[in-house]
Amino acid sequence: EIAVQAYSHRTQKSKEMYEAARLVMPGGDTRTTAFFRPYPLTVSEGVGPELHDRDGNRYLDFLNNYTSTIHGHAHPKIIERVNHALSLGTSYASVIEEQIILADVLCARVPGIERIRFCNSGTEATMFAIRAARAFTNRAGIIKMEGGYHGTHDTAQSETSSMGVPARVAEDIYAVPFNDVEAMERLLIQRAKEIAAVIVEPVMGSAGVIPPLPGYLEGLRELVNRYDVLLIFDEVQTLRLSTGGAQSKYQVTPDLTALAKIIGGGFPVGAFGGRADIMSLFDPAQSTSLSHGGTFNGNRVTMAAGIASMELLDEHALTRLETLAQRLETGMHETIERLAVPASITRTGSLLHVHFTEQPPINYSSTLLSRNDLAALLHIELINRGIFTAPRGMWNLSTVMTESHIEQAVQAFTDSMNVIAKCV
Ligand code: PLP
Repeated sequence: EIAVQAYSHRTQKSKEMYEAARLVMPGGDTRTTAFFRPYPLTVSEGVGPELHDRDGNRYLDFLNNYTSTIHGHAHPKIIERVNHALSLGTSYASVIEEQIILADVLCARVPGIERIRFCNSGTEATMFAIRAARAFTNRAGIIKMEGGYHGTHDTAQSETSSMGVPARVAEDIYAVPFNDVEAMERLLIQRAKEIAAVIVEPVMGSAGVIPPLPGYLEGLRELVNRYDVLLIFDEVQTLRLSTGGAQSKYQVTPDLTALAKIIGGGFPVGAFGGRADIMSLFDPAQSTSLSHGGTFNGNRVTMAAGIASMELLDEHALTRLETLAQRLETGMHETIERLAVPASITRTGSLLHVHFTEQPPINYSSTLLSRNDLAALLHIELINRGIFTAPRGMWNLSTVMTESHIEQAVQAFTDSMNVIAKCV
């Protein structure tokens, strides 16, 4: 209550914007995921690692548009490339050279991607990866992880948010707990003949940055081989874990991969790629092929920004991110232990999640033990101290952050947890 009052006091203009926005957009915005109570901030500017809201408050951005802006906001190298692209006209129905350059970079970096195609969102990326798997195997069944988020198309959402999704869509979708090879095998023993693919985030992201237990991804790969089912990695969030994504970090290669977010340098993007034999289904020069339209697929601005984003994400940048993220995690751990709050941290590379559970969750159902009221309180306390994170507790870092930003964040976390310790 006090935290919300303090928030409302500091963000009057955001409140006015929210009220005006609600008159024309249900919920006052166009993204369910960006909403939080009492109302979301209206941001007027992003500058490097910071966001500035309409009231002039500044925040260190540990949300980064849900892991997209890995180089912070308005990075000069990205702006330079984008400005050049803008001056050439932004989209036309033809091959664009920048597409080939970004495709080359991603095929070279990501082990499972021999061929790639671009689209405009992670939603489209998983949708087309799934469609390719279904077309290639001539089967309809898809196995996903309980609570796994793969965007907003019907197949992706039928398990977690079924309103408006026909029940027959859900008939082909099976969900098993993450980090449980036995559960996967039990399902495959019963159903393998109907299953086109298993889709999984190698580190579950939206569900709460849940890393794979040692051997889990290897176990999955072995199982899908044995039961002749395809493996799709959703690396929309996890590509940032190494130059070649989580598949490179954990050395498990999927048949198909969905990408988005950081490969667009802050612009709308998606991509799906994989084995050449599967991806050749999309070749319109063949007598039968899978249709893949999209007016803005691979547009020059997004491609230019994506090329710059990938160039900036080299080994050196990744090592720095790892060091900074480790420091953040250590600082948080010290606070949690000292205050003895029932909280835990999960982290892989520059993705981190604060859970209000005694033990770090290993799958979706164990995240449900988390105290949502405390997560919401932490979120608002952090905002009031100039730290912007995901309402549910996810943090991610950008390459323009420095040690002093991390120290600022740890201090704000400690001060916020001091408040929370009095509530538990
Ligand atoms: N897959 C994962 C793992 C994601 O985290 C997201 C977005 O958060 C998506 C897919 C959907 O991407 P988009 O929001 O670009 O449609």
